[in-house]
Amino acid sequence: MNRKVAFKTLGCRLNQYETDSVMSDFVNAGYEIVDFNQPADAYVINTCTVTNMGDHKSRQVISQASRRTEDAVLVVTGCMVNNHKDKLDQNDRITYAIENDRKGSIFHLLDSHFKGEIVHPDELIRDRFAFGAAENSFHSRSLIKIQDGCNNFCTFCIVPHVRGRAESRPYFDVEKNIREVLEFGYREIVLTGVNIGRYEHEGLNFEGLVEKILNIPGDFRVRISSIEPEGFGDKLFEMFGHPKLTPHLHMCLQSGSEKILLKMRRQYTVDQFTSMVNKIKSRIPDFNFTTDIIVGFPGETEEDFLDTCRVADEIGFSHIHTFKYSVRKGTRAERLPDHLSEKVKNERSAVIRDLAEKHKRAYRRSFIGKEQTVLVEKIDSRGFAHGYGEHYMPVRFKADEHTLVKNFRSVKITSLDKGNDPELVGKV
Ligand code: SF4
Repeated sequence: MNRKVAFKTLGCRLNQYETDSVMSDFVNAGYEIVDFNQPADAYVINTCTVTNMGDHKSRQVISQASRRTEDAVLVVTGCMVNNHKDKLDQNDRITYAIENDRKGSIFHLLDSHFKGEIVHPDELIRDRFAFGAAENSFHSRSLIKIQDGCNNFCTFCIVPHVRGRAESRPYFDVEKNIREVLEFGYREIVLTGVNIGRYEHEGLNFEGLVEKILNIPGDFRVRISSIEPEGFGDKLFEMFGHPKLTPHLHMCLQSGSEKILLKMRRQYTVDQFTSMVNKIKSRIPDFNFTTDIIVGFPGETEEDFLDTCRVADEIGFSHIHTFKYSVRKGTRAERLPDHLSEKVKNERSAVIRDLAEKHKRAYRRSFIGKEQTVLVEKIDSRGFAHGYGEHYMPVRFKADEHTLVKNFRSVKITSLDKGNDPELVGKV
């Protein structure tokens, strides 16, 4: 009888990659994957702990699953486990709490469980790269893990404490993974990790890795997921313009105040950040930069905040992921003086969001009259196809007989929708 398994993933693309891979193990073994709101024999929750909100949402999902059915096996994994293992181990409703470096063995654990061969989680191998190529995925593009962990210890960040020290995946495994997902029919791969710009394996650095991947034959494109603005060289910038490398970088600024960047122990200055942006934009004027910004970091004055607004305005990010600073236990920033009120954080967060929305509309509007190569993600009941172009903007167009999900379609942009996060509208 097909056992039913449901998955819920919180947080970053790295978590999503890991869930896709584990889920594929179950599908390949004949298990049925059901929606998280459906009855299942097992629920697997891949948690996030990067902010208070990440913890809060993870707890919510765990209690939802706990209330679902007494009999189901409940597996909780991900960064919240590494951050709060003892507490989760005391929750009787959780069958298994699995740390990040054992996540790749969840199929073995559960499959043995259902066969009555109880395996103790401590017996599972510790390997942060023990993930197979994800044939089945909750996404239209294939996420590829190239690196894990981080040595930077930015003062606000819990990630090095829960994902461990930086480690890079051997290039041979990365290429094998990519060739496999291309075989599965994926046309866009997204390079992901914790601090991917710091990739280094046997002398191969991040630029070298990207260059080798671009040389893999096949009609596909490469997207670089979130990247810290350090660790890689100008050679990466020169590679943009390559037909396979998408003209988009989500490069994390965090603050536009030099003083605050120092307090965060970030490894670049505002000037260095803007010069990286200008280096690319001087060659590719419509290149898409998106970013993360933290508002309300301890000691952030009104003046510091205005610096952040000015820099974000000058660069014109087409999307800003705005975080209100939240204390992470065990990080250096927790011990800093001058923590700000929620009121101030909410006010500053609203200012950044309005600024971001203004630039998002202006940037997307600038593509009216231009072409986008859209990776089709779905075709809705009205016959409209939806997907993202190479500049990573959402596009909608009337599908025709040549429009296939998970395939590219060249679209002429004709207008921009109204409302928040507006879709570009086009025609083929
Ligand atoms: S570089 Fe990124 S992952 Fe590493 S400590 Fe800083 S914010 Fe966290």
